[in-house]
Amino acid sequence: MKRTEILKQIKQSAEIDLLVIGGGATGCGIAFDAVSRGLSVVLVEQNDFAEGTSGRSSKLIHGGVRYLEMAVKQLDRDQYHLVKEGLHERFYFLRNAPHLCHPLPLISPLYKWWQLPQIWIGLKLYDFLSGQHSLGPSGYATFATTVAEFPLLQRSGLKGGIRYYDGQFNDSRMALELALSAAKRGALVANHLAAVDLQKNGDKLVGAVLEDRLTLERFELSAKAVVNATGPFGDQLRTLDQPNSVPMLTTSSGCHIVLDESYPPPQAGLLITETEDDRVLFVLPWMGRCLVGTTDQEAGLNEHPQVAQKDIDYLLRHLQKVLDPPPTADNITASWSGLRPLVHDPKAHDSSRILRDFVIEESVSGLFTIVGGKWTSYRRMAEKLVDRVVASRRFSVAACQTETLAVHGAENWHPNGWQTLVDAFSLSEATARYLHASYGCYATEVARLAAQDLSAQLADSTPCIEAEVLYACRSELAERAIDVLVRRLPLALLDNDLAKQAAPRVLDLMSAEKGWDAQRCAAEKQLLEKRLSVAL
Ligand SMILES: Cc1cc2nc3c(=O)[nH]c(=O)nc-3n(C[C@H](O)[C@H](O)[C@H](O)COP(=O)(O)OP(=O)(O)OC[C@H]3O[C@@H](n4cnc5c(N)ncnc54)[C@H](O)[C@@H]3O)c2cc1C
Repeated sequence: MKRTEILKQIKQSAEIDLLVIGGGATGCGIAFDAVSRGLSVVLVEQNDFAEGTSGRSSKLIHGGVRYLEMAVKQLDRDQYHLVKEGLHERFYFLRNAPHLCHPLPLISPLYKWWQLPQIWIGLKLYDFLSGQHSLGPSGYATFATTVAEFPLLQRSGLKGGIRYYDGQFNDSRMALELALSAAKRGALVANHLAAVDLQKNGDKLVGAVLEDRLTLERFELSAKAVVNATGPFGDQLRTLDQPNSVPMLTTSSGCHIVLDESYPPPQAGLLITETEDDRVLFVLPWMGRCLVGTTDQEAGLNEHPQVAQKDIDYLLRHLQKVLDPPPTADNITASWSGLRPLVHDPKAHDSSRILRDFVIEESVSGLFTIVGGKWTSYRRMAEKLVDRVVASRRFSVAACQTETLAVHGAENWHPNGWQTLVDAFSLSEATARYLHASYGCYATEVARLAAQDLSAQLADSTPCIEAEVLYACRSELAERAIDVLVRRLPLALLDNDLAKQAAPRVLDLMSAEKGWDAQRCAAEKQLLEKRLSVAL
């Protein structure tokens, strides 16, 4: 359905069951869960789906080895249960969205023999907690195996490594696919639609005022329940609801960088366990590049947080100790920063120590706020939140379905399906594999568009093709050129220069498809220049 038609239907809606505000992992997961139980649902996102934190993560599906370390060192049961639950959710994540996810081996390098028992025991405990959902046994990797799987590792003093397994996924597309999964079941989902005010009847919350950020038109929507899933912005909406509410959130920023092709993607990710601030760092293979992250700095609210030079310096300083040759700023092709929505803990000395769990609150007026958590646990968070809403509003609906529901694109997906794209549409193997892993079973629709003279690459040495731009406009609610270049396709997150190279063609295709006038084209071009000239 086109956005104009979706907005028309939202405006014409009588009182709906559930309004979800926020189109990140949490909000999209909730919309999918709620509509699949039989509730009438509207999901609104003020920017694009996953334009906030959910499109700026490390893209790992994990229980969290670091949280396990903290659980053991501090004998912390909450951390322990959080890891266990995360590992359980990892299984559903990989099973229900296999096109966007895969298991990933990771290596923790050993430079001192005495580290071996400590790391080995920790990772064996991680295996144990994974239980029947283990992705493979962790264990010692010899020097030869370690450098074979991670050839970039500095070899001086290296003894070997410890290998373990987690999952990796495409975060922006996962949020989008969850929104599309909800839409497919009847939810009305709209991006660039902000909740700018809440509506009350006496003390009771009865809906919200929504603003179309593309036209600035405002209208009201009535709902039996309203969910605040605005991530780092959670306290803003809570204040709109209850002006004297005590803040629940602390935000900290995390930055990632991507290295150029002189650092080819290794077979395994690298877990660096010794950092200046006693955290961990990852160097991960990601879409043909090396992704490095992350940092943890207290930070203020910002819809588009900027990467600080000190974050880049921090990452490079650590990389220079473990990679050979040591990278410099010239090797960075893209960087971005995201805000962690952390539940405030007055006892935590620094933000990296705050428990990554989530909290659900129902205010006196009836606003449900859900904050905290992590991407990996989006499904469980949604289940708990919808359970709470259903109980509170006495909705008579089915129980949670999402443990077994395939996410949009995963229906009838087969790992070797890319071969059909090569055979039936004569696509190159690289493009076929990429489309198959991005769009799942809908890759055939993109390939059909490609067959209409739209199979040209959007930039050098990338599998991304022109047909994807039209598909994003027609079937994936892409409204702005930047939505396409950053989130429907991974171009700008991988390489700013490649995104700049693709930008003119993306603008041409979108303006022809959407019938943009000269003024809109100029505005789109300006936005692209602004966003692509700085770290995202
Ligand atoms: C650097 C970093 C790395 C991470 N890595 C991982 C990882 O590898 N694995 C993992 O499991 N987790 C990871 N996380 C955690 C995970 O990314 C977050 O927990 C998760 O994405 C939060 O999702 P969310 O939907 O709550 O917030 P968001 O993604 O921020 O979504 C909230 C949305 O609400 C919208 N919004 C705000 N106000 C309004 C309004 N008034 N009207 C409409 N919309 C509004 C915002 O635009 C935003 O899109 C990482 C986090 C960070 C910062």
